[in-house]
Amino acid sequence: MSGIEEALIFDDPGQLPNFGPPFMAHAPASSAPILAPLTRSDDVGAVITTRNQADAKRAVRDIRQANPRAAILLDASRYSGKNRGIGARCMTSGWINLQIKIGSRWALTDSGYIPASDLTALRAVLRWESELTQVVTALPLAIQWLTLDHEALIAELTAAGRPVALMLESEGDPLATKAAVSGLIAVLRCPVPVLLLRSDTSVLGALAHGAAAVSVGTKSALRHIYPIVDTDGGFQPPPAAYVPALLSYKRLSIIEDGITRNPDLDVWKCDCSVCMGRSLIWIVNHPDPETAAFEHSLAAQSKLAKTLLAHPSELRGSQWKTMCAVAQSNHELIVRKSGRTWDPAKALKAWVSSTPHPQASTP
Ligand SMILES: [Zn+2]
Repeated sequence: MSGIEEALIFDDPGQLPNFGPPFMAHAPASSAPILAPLTRSDDVGAVITTRNQADAKRAVRDIRQANPRAAILLDASRYSGKNRGIGARCMTSGWINLQIKIGSRWALTDSGYIPASDLTALRAVLRWESELTQVVTALPLAIQWLTLDHEALIAELTAAGRPVALMLESEGDPLATKAAVSGLIAVLRCPVPVLLLRSDTSVLGALAHGAAAVSVGTKSALRHIYPIVDTDGGFQPPPAAYVPALLSYKRLSIIEDGITRNPDLDVWKCDCSVCMGRSLIWIVNHPDPETAAFEHSLAAQSKLAKTLLAHPSELRGSQWKTMCAVAQSNHELIVRKSGRTWDPAKALKAWVSSTPHPQASTP
C-alpha cells in the first residue's frame, strides 16, 4: 500500500513520530472552514468526525489550503449512535486508504465500540490488519476499561505494540472520577503512544501525563461518547466557551450571568490570541457568539497546552495538578444569585486527588 512506511520503531515510546501539534480540535466536517485558520495561527491539530468520505475530503482540503502541514485525523464515529458498530466488525481498509490518499501522516481506524469487559472485541480491534503501519487504532471504550480493567487494557496495549487513540463513553464527563483519571494515568504510561480523543477538560491533564496527542470536542456532543438512550436524541446543548481560569467549558448564558454579577473578577480575562486580554463578555456580545466561542476556546487551550509542555516532562503532572487546584479555588470567587459560589467541574477534583506525588529526585 503506497504511503506506508517501514515498521515503526518508537524512539520515545510515548510519542507518535512525525505527528503534531499534539493539541487538536475534535470537530464536525462542517466546522473545517473556521477551524482551518486556527491550525496555522494557534497550532491546533484537527480531528474531523464524519462518516461521509466526500465531506471528509472537503474538510481536509479546506484545512490544507490554510495550512499544508496541519495535523489531521479522520474519525468515522462508527462507535456512536443507535446503530453503532461493535469491535472490529465494522472496520474497513477503505477508511485507511482514504486518509493515505489525502496525505495524512497517520490514519485513524474506523473501529466499533468496545463494551465493558469484552476482551474479544478489544483484541479484535487491536489485531485488525496488524501488518499496517502509520495507523492509529481507535479504541472507543466503555469507561469501565479505565475504572475497573485498566490493568487488562494495559497488558493488551503492550502486547499489540501499536499506537492507540482512546475515546471514552459516559453520560457525563467520563473523567470526572478519581478511578477513571487514575486508570487513564496508568494507561498513558504504556510503552506505546496513547492519544486521548473526543474529550473535555481533561485533555490538558492527559498531555501533562504523557499523551502523544489529544483532541477536545468543539461541542459538547464531541467531548465524550454518549451511551445509547431511548430518547429521540434531538436535544442540542446550548453553546459553551472555555473559561481558562476555570479550566472548564461553561455555557455562554452562565458565563454572561457570572460576569454580570461579578464584573470585576480577573477570572473572565483571557490572553489567548483571539481575546488578547479582553473579558470573555465580548464573546457573549458578538453577533455570532458560537463561532467566537469556538475560536477563543481552541486558542486558549492550545496556549495552555504549550505552557504545560514547556515544563520538563517529569514536572508536567504536578504542574497540571497545581493548575487544577487554582481553577477550583477560582470558582469560589464567583457568586451566584443565591449567594452560593460556582461549583467546580468534577474532573478538576479527580485530577487533584489522583495525581501521584512526583518521584523524589536523586541527589
Ligand atoms: Zn480567549
